[in-house]
Amino acid sequence: MNPNEQPEFNLDFSQTEEYVCPECGHKHFTQVFKMRKLSAMLAPTGNESYIPVPVYACANCHTVPEPFLPPDNK
Ligand SMILES: [Zn+2]
Repeated sequence: MNPNEQPEFNLDFSQTEEYVCPECGHKHFTQVFKMRKLSAMLAPTGNESYIPVPVYACANCHTVPEPFLPPDNK
């Protein structure tokens, strides 16, 4: 095998199960952003900074299910 070649991940959808919103059972999710504020004290620029963290929210009720939350949000 060529070491520069990425091993191909053959995803078999029959091996997956559909994930639905735990709140309302909706099947579609949309990418939204949580925002983290970095205080001016800690920011390298000396100004308050806002850092977007992408998460997936239910397209119906906008709940962000627990598995999709960033680790620092626990
Ligand atoms: Zn929902």
